[in-house]
Amino acid sequence: MINSSTVDKLRQKEEFLWINPDKQIYSGDAFSKFSLEDIDDAEARLSRFAPFIAKVFPETKKDNGIIESELTLIDNMKNVLNTRCNSSIKGNLYIKQDNALAIAGSVKARGGIYEVLKHTEKLALKLELINSGDCYDKLASETNRKIFSQYTVQVGSTGNLGMSIGIISAAIGYKVVVHMSADAKQWKKDLLRSKGVNVIEYKSDYCEAVRQGRLQSCEDANSYFVDDENSRDLFLGYAVAAKRLKKQLDEQDVLIDNLHPLFVYIPCGIGGAPGGITFGLKQIFGDAVHCFFVEPVNTPCMLLGMATKLYSKISVSDIGLSGFTHADGLAVPRPSSFVGEMMKNVLSGIFTVNDTNLYEYLWELKSSENIFIEPSACAAFNGSATISNCREGKEYIKKCSVSEDSITHIAWATGGELVPQVVRDAYINVHLKK
Ligand SMILES: *Cc1c(COP(=O)(O)O)cnc(C)c1O
Repeated sequence: MINSSTVDKLRQKEEFLWINPDKQIYSGDAFSKFSLEDIDDAEARLSRFAPFIAKVFPETKKDNGIIESELTLIDNMKNVLNTRCNSSIKGNLYIKQDNALAIAGSVKARGGIYEVLKHTEKLALKLELINSGDCYDKLASETNRKIFSQYTVQVGSTGNLGMSIGIISAAIGYKVVVHMSADAKQWKKDLLRSKGVNVIEYKSDYCEAVRQGRLQSCEDANSYFVDDENSRDLFLGYAVAAKRLKKQLDEQDVLIDNLHPLFVYIPCGIGGAPGGITFGLKQIFGDAVHCFFVEPVNTPCMLLGMATKLYSKISVSDIGLSGFTHADGLAVPRPSSFVGEMMKNVLSGIFTVNDTNLYEYLWELKSSENIFIEPSACAAFNGSATISNCREGKEYIKKCSVSEDSITHIAWATGGELVPQVVRDAYINVHLKK
């Protein structure tokens, strides 16, 4: 039995904000395992692949094969939160629209696609399909696709990671096997199968699907496994987002410094996406950025791991939580093996959110801004909506010694674009039925 007041709170399954007691003043070497050069390296690799991406996914041509999302000011949503959801947001509220990222329609278009491209570059150099300095669009030739079809890529997923890996891998020519946990939505499996992906379904949770995938991949020398529990490449792919965000803030004349801080709220599943983004943001903005994760009340695996300092050695089932949530992208019982410890001295805190509120935010964002995002992504709004009026949030802001209207808030919307219309309607109906 694990006892602490935080764990007691988690057991009650009520929303709250956990403030990380171990956060320190930022120092450049807070992340011993990675540096800014690693992010630059990842960004350069994405640039090398841009001509290939533009060729294989024509919808990315207008951005020259660079997959990036808009940063959008959402005043209407801010007003709705302040008038209807008891929020009191004073600064500007933005949405980072990773819900609309090309190809995968979710934040996984960053990490997932990056890792498959990195693997592909290594393999293509080894097989001498390309030489360094070549334009990578030649990898899209029929001959090369045939060669890639002798290799397999596998991944365990609750849905969106599988979609990003499945779509990019199939486009390159690989055989693909996606090991789906019980939480995965039917339409995601259908979409993958329509692209020729072999989807294996498990009745168990995410960690079991990953374990099975890893085992099966190990048996095949020509198979590569994207390991969400341990992957450094996924993490770095996500981290590139920070450099791109910095550019967008500059373009929109948003000043970020210690007196005009950035508060970012990111939905968290296993922790790779929010961890990678946080790592990147901290490298660029240091103490001027305050990063918060948001997790469902039934799967607060990162919060549990960080608060107990047991990290990936504890599962939400160990404290009696069901692990069931409508936020399928966040339905992860145990956090990544390395992200939690990396966040120890830099993360500001973690919010929990209940499923009912996810649908409220989904509805309000759609009606006020005409932006649709999936339930998992809506978790981000529980951060911006509650920071200014919960006790812990108020205290946190007070300690920052900044005026509240100088804070720029970003809700990081992590998915939604590929959700079929009938499923969107069903999500919206959840609100209408109330
Ligand atoms: C994967 C995912 C997340 C969280 O990413 P992790 O790396 O699992 O923490 C958040 N939202 C959506 C929609 C996702 O698909």
